[in-house]
Amino acid sequence: MPDAMPELEEMLFELGEVASHPRRMLRQYLAAGKKVVGCMPVYTPEELAHAGGMTPMGLWGGQVTPSLAGKYNPVFTCSIMRSCLEYGMSGVYDGLGCVMMPMLCDTFRGMSAGWRAGVKAIPLVPFIHPQNRTDPGAPAFLTEEYRVVRALLEKHMHCEITDEALEKSIEVYNAHSAAMRSFASAANEHLDVITPAIRHHVFKSALFMPKEEHAARVLAIVRELRKRPTHVWKGKKVILTGITAEPEALLNVLAENGVAVTGDDLAQESRQYRTPIPEGGSPMERLPMERLARQWFDRRGCSMAHETRAARGRMLTDMAKETGADGIVVCLMRFCDVEEYDYPMIAAEAEKAGLHCLCLDIDQSTRDNGQSRTKIQSFVEMGM
Ligand code: SF4
Repeated sequence: MPDAMPELEEMLFELGEVASHPRRMLRQYLAAGKKVVGCMPVYTPEELAHAGGMTPMGLWGGQVTPSLAGKYNPVFTCSIMRSCLEYGMSGVYDGLGCVMMPMLCDTFRGMSAGWRAGVKAIPLVPFIHPQNRTDPGAPAFLTEEYRVVRALLEKHMHCEITDEALEKSIEVYNAHSAAMRSFASAANEHLDVITPAIRHHVFKSALFMPKEEHAARVLAIVRELRKRPTHVWKGKKVILTGITAEPEALLNVLAENGVAVTGDDLAQESRQYRTPIPEGGSPMERLPMERLARQWFDRRGCSMAHETRAARGRMLTDMAKETGADGIVVCLMRFCDVEEYDYPMIAAEAEKAGLHCLCLDIDQSTRDNGQSRTKIQSFVEMGM
């Protein structure tokens, strides 16, 4: 760490290190004797692992050109799943006790088979979110799925997950989500300090740290930000939507062109934190497993959770209006069907609201951001 950094910058730097070095974090946890569970994106009930005393770590792939994963994942698979399988097959994820995997889209169905065949040393804990969220039997179905997840975690990780511990973990996760929402709000008053990449680091580091520790750091950052005078941002502002806005070089291109991020709907970032785990009304709904399952039914504006397609576009235009954003940047993961289906509706809603909409092609493995750089420059030069 550079010498004599102010406290705020020091904390942001530390989270940047965590976000950039998940493998280092994994090694640290294993050296400390912790049991680590991999959590595939997104909406994996990490709370169960947390309640069993384990350390959950998000698996979001990375910038690698897959060579082994091609045996099971065709080239037209999204880069997240290809890089996750590559890391699993090449030993990068060695040390994980097991991997929890939701079946949120068709890609996961092939991925689960590929994982079982290619990564035999790390057991898989798969589960399904019901796609018809209006069916009266759907909450009971998901609760049952989570019970199976709990039993498999207990078996593979040799632990016990009690309802009492799960209740405490739910409070930890709800508090963490609230901390992330506070950060997103405070960041908008300090866009000179919270650049697009730094904002991303704060969100991404949450995937690799125990949530209570991460929440404490984030709240300390929020306190430090609030001590500073509000900064009036003179450049352009955008909302990001999509699965991820990686590789990070893309965010640096935004910053180089004077564009700040004032909100996001990225699956890797705010999408995870905007829906609290509900309290529940009836005595049955107040049971922790039921509460955990019911969170899925409260999620809105997500490509993986079926609802009226216009809802996401309206959510984004509202977010843009609230934060004074000039446009919406759709970070469209290549070969992600569910996101591709949503894009025309988002673009139409943006146009209706008088907002500019830019679509960037996202492929985690690419090192050449030339096309995105040109698109962003044109977007800014044309006044957005
Ligand atoms: S939702 Fe999209 S990005 Fe996520 S696994 Fe499916 S295809 Fe890949």
